[in-house]
Parts: sequence; structure tokens; C-alpha cells
Amino acid sequence: MIDSIGRDVYVRIQTDLLVIGDSIMTDRHHASSGNYEDDDPQNQIGGIVPAFSLSGWLRHGMEKVVHEKDATACHPGVSNANFQMEGVYNRDLDAGYHEKGSCLEDDDNGCVILDLFGDFGNSPGKVMRRPIKFSPVRSSVDYTRGQAEGHYRRLNRNVVSRNREDDRRPLRNAGLDAVGNFDGAWHLSFRKVKPEFVALLAQAITYLDAHKTDFMHQLGGARNFGGGIVDCELVNPLYSETELQRVFDRSKDSTNKMDNKDDEWADEFLPEFKSSLSARVGAES
Ligand SMILES: [Zn+2]
Repeated sequence: MIDSIGRDVYVRIQTDLLVIGDSIMTDRHHASSGNYEDDDPQNQIGGIVPAFSLSGWLRHGMEKVVHEKDATACHPGVSNANFQMEGVYNRDLDAGYHEKGSCLEDDDNGCVILDLFGDFGNSPGKVMRRPIKFSPVRSSVDYTRGQAEGHYRRLNRNVVSRNREDDRRPLRNAGLDAVGNFDGAWHLSFRKVKPEFVALLAQAITYLDAHKTDFMHQLGGARNFGGGIVDCELVNPLYSETELQRVFDRSKDSTNKMDNKDDEWADEFLPEFKSSLSARVGAES
């Protein structure tokens, strides 16, 4: 059954506002030929959302799924790292994590989280998380290549003085890279497809969608301002490329064939993959 699943899977991500700190890469220099005004709503700036924030967000969702099965998850940091807050690592170990890599003692692949995300240096993770390229021009977005429609904006905020006699005079100006009205496909590639990987991905995405307004499960920065509230959905891995593109086409509904694949996925594939995940995590706990 796992042979029907290709190495490439896609997660649909939709959000009104995404702020990735200062690390959205833009191609404004191509588009503007020197006339770029960062607050001009007419600008046609595309860019790239790097995979770091996305990867952390997904990993956190997967850790929750593992926790709900009463197992511990691999800590993302090595135990001898120079953490800024003393005692935090041990507190995390008490809260459902095991020391990164300690799972390798029982199994060469480690726990399912380590198997997917890898270890620094010696083993690459078996899921490759790609950046998402976004463009404001929907017709140029290729969803099969993990792209998105998104509108880059530079937000400027004035931090003003609180002293009455200053009459709200600006103390400083803070700029923020943001993408608005984002809708696209996050492309993940398995280096090796295992049923428990697919189940963990599916369950983590369901979990993240259900907890999208929890501060801990929002994506990127500006969370206090509603940034990073993400609607997410695993695109049925049984879909063809044409069917994948149809998911993002607002003018078309899904076909009967797609509906049949949805039933097949929900009734046959996912339950079997979930049992593999439970078996593996159960053996690890
Ligand atoms: Zn582990």
C-alpha cells in the first residue's frame, strides 16, 4: 500500500498574514528597477519563505501527536549545547522529550522524529522541507513545485513616546517583512517513504489546523498581532499533478475521481498508516 505513495507530498497552507522575522527573501530588485517603494500597494514583489520556520512549526505539531500517544519526542537540541537558560533542557525532558539522539541506542534509525528530521552531522532527516516561493501573480504560481500566491508587504510601525508632553512623538520606526493573503503548496519530499511517516504528517497537519490560534502553534512572528494563523491541509497524496493544481483553482470543484480518491485515502490508506505509526511509537515508549 505504501508503494502507491510517491516521495513528493504537499501541504496546503493558507494564511492572511505571515511574518517570518527578517528572513523573507524578496526579489524586489528585479521587479522595481530602482523605483521600489516598499509601501506601494501596486508593487509586484515575490519572494521566498525559507523552510526554517515551517519546519519548526511542523515538527512541533508532530511532537504533539507523539505526546498524545504517551511517548516522548526527540528534543530538537543536543543536550550539551550552550542553552541560554539554564535548566530549560531538563525541564523539557520532564515535559515529554528525550535527549536528542538517545533513541539511537535502541535503534539505528532512532525515534520517528529523529528519523524524519535527522541529526546534526551524521544523518540527514528523511523528510526534506523546502522553502516556498511566492508570487503575487497567481497565473505564474506552479503549485506542483511547491509555490504559493502571496503578497509581499513591508509593514512600518512607529513606536511612540508614552510621555504626555511628547505628544506621541515617534521614538523609533520598526520595519517588518510580511506576506499577506498567502495560499499555496508546501512541498515535502521523503528520502524514504514509510507508512508511519505519512501518518505522522497527516495527523500533525490535522492537529495544527485544529490548534491554529494557539500561540504555540502559530507560524512565524507577529503572533500577538494575529500573524501566522494558518489553515493547513495535507493534499491527498493519491492525487495526480493535475488534481493537485485543481485544489488551488477557485473556479473548479473537485472531480468525481478526486472524491473517490479522498474516500480511498480516508477509509483504506490512512487507517493502515496510522496503525504503523502506533506500532512504531508504541514500541518506542
Ligand atoms: Zn529520539
